[in-house]
Amino acid sequence: MSIKPSPLAVLALSLMFVAGSVAAADPKITAEQVKDNIYMLQGGGGNVGLFIGKDGTFLIDDKFAPMSAAILAQIKKLGGDTPKYLLNTHFHGDHTGGNQNFGQQGAIIISHDNVRKRLQQGSYIAAFDMKTPPAQAPALPVITFAQNIHLHLNGDNVSAIHIPSAHTDGDSIIHFKKANVIHTGDTFFNGFYPFIDAANGGTVKGMIAAADTILALANDQTKIIPGHGPLANKADLQSFRDMLATAYKSLSALKSQGLNADQAVQKKPLAALDAQWGKGFMGTDKWIKVVYPAVD
Ligand SMILES: [Zn+2]
Repeated sequence: MSIKPSPLAVLALSLMFVAGSVAAADPKITAEQVKDNIYMLQGGGGNVGLFIGKDGTFLIDDKFAPMSAAILAQIKKLGGDTPKYLLNTHFHGDHTGGNQNFGQQGAIIISHDNVRKRLQQGSYIAAFDMKTPPAQAPALPVITFAQNIHLHLNGDNVSAIHIPSAHTDGDSIIHFKKANVIHTGDTFFNGFYPFIDAANGGTVKGMIAAADTILALANDQTKIIPGHGPLANKADLQSFRDMLATAYKSLSALKSQGLNADQAVQKKPLAALDAQWGKGFMGTDKWIKVVYPAVD
C-alpha cells in the first residue's frame, strides 16, 4: 500500500527541507578516531564511517547533500582523499543524501539490492510524513548484493552483512574483521529509542535479530559505530537489545489484545524504560505510535 500526503503537507515539507538546507549550509563535521585509520564523522544526519588507506578512501553513508563539502574537507584533513568506495547501510536520506555529490566525484556506490530499488523509486516515510523523489545516476548504487559482500582493502577484510526486515528491508551492518570495528547502520541507536520504518519493511523482531548478529561478532574490545548517537561498545548494544526485547513483549501483548496504537499509548506500557530511553528525538508516546506497526 502506498500512502500519499496531501499537497499541503508536501508543500510544508518542501519548505522545511529548504529551510533545513539553508540551516545546514555551513555544517560542522567532527571526526572521532575509532581505531587506526577508521573514523566516525558526526554533525547532523547519520553517523558516517571512514576508512583511509593506500587502496583508497572508503566511506560508509554520507549524511545530507549540503554536508558533502564539509565531509570531504574532514576526510582530507585526516589524510584521505575523494572516496573511492561508498557503502550505503540503508536508503534513508540522512544516510544517502550525499550520494549524488560523491557519485559525481567518482565514488563507486555499493548497497543491498533494496537500497538501490528504494532510491530509484523514490520513497515515502509515513512516520515522519517525509517524501523523497526518485534518485538518478550518479546517486544510485552501481554494485548491489542480496546477502553479503566483502571488500578487501587497506589491510583489512570488510564485510557488509544484510539483516532482513530490521530498520528497513535493506539494512547492512559493516564488519571490519582485523580492526574489530562494526558500523551498525540504523539497526542501533545508541542511548535512545530507535526509528523503525515499518512502511519500508522494518520490524522490531528484525532489529533484535540485528543486535544478536552484531553481539555474536563482537567482544569487549569491539568498537561499535551506531547509526545515531555516540560511539558504543558491546555492553551499550546489549542494553539496547534488552530494551527492544522488553518493549516488544509489552507491545505485542497489547496488540494481541486488539488495542490500536493510541489505546496502547494510554496504557503507559513502557514506563519502566522511559527514563533511560525516552530522551532522544522521540519521546515514549511518539515512539510507541511509530513502532507499533513494526510489532508482529
Ligand atoms: Zn534510517
